[in-house]
Amino acid sequence: MKQNGVILWLTGLSGAGKTTIAQRLENKFQEQAYLVELLDGDVIRQNLSQGLSFTKEDRDINVRRVGYVANLLSRNGIIVIVSLISPYRAVRDELRYSSKNFVEIYVNAPIEVCEARDVKGLYAKARNGQIKSFTGIDHPYEEPLNPHITCYTAKETIDESIAKIINWLEKANQLPELVIPINSRENLNFSSLRI
Ligand code: ADP
Repeated sequence: MKQNGVILWLTGLSGAGKTTIAQRLENKFQEQAYLVELLDGDVIRQNLSQGLSFTKEDRDINVRRVGYVANLLSRNGIIVIVSLISPYRAVRDELRYSSKNFVEIYVNAPIEVCEARDVKGLYAKARNGQIKSFTGIDHPYEEPLNPHITCYTAKETIDESIAKIINWLEKANQLPELVIPINSRENLNFSSLRI
């Protein structure tokens, strides 16, 4: 059995489509009874990284923490989907090259498109100064130079972006073996495991 799971690391600007793609992927894997966990940047900041700011130092700490958790999960056969702006190349590369099963996925949309979408109204707030250090406005985003996969979400449909990722994973043989189908887990008899 292939023990290792895989880390699908979605990086890109706010509004590029990371969460949308991450949630669709999560549903797709769950339907097929894969073990899957989604680590979403917004949720992580409410618990694991509560209190961290948006300085370069704190963003790097945040990315390393998420990378650490993703590694713990993925080494147990779980597909870990990370949806995080993760704007700095060096710390992304640090995780990518220290892990065997890290797939860097660049969710790529021009800033004008992200700003026009303004899914959470954050670009408007960044433009009028209500939010400081906003990625793409007054804080850098360093594009991946050599991502495994790029989803051009201003040109592709969501389905096309999803298909691109799944096809890549299948070709690269990166999906873990299915463990125990969910419906047969109920039939496990733990009393037989007593010594
Ligand atoms: P992020 O998580 O990167 O901040 P979201 O997923 O919250 O971005 O928002 C992206 C928006 O772009 C959504 O409204 C989504 O419906 C839209 N969108 C259009 N095309 C795509 C695509 N190919 N992939 C992902 N999102 C897309």
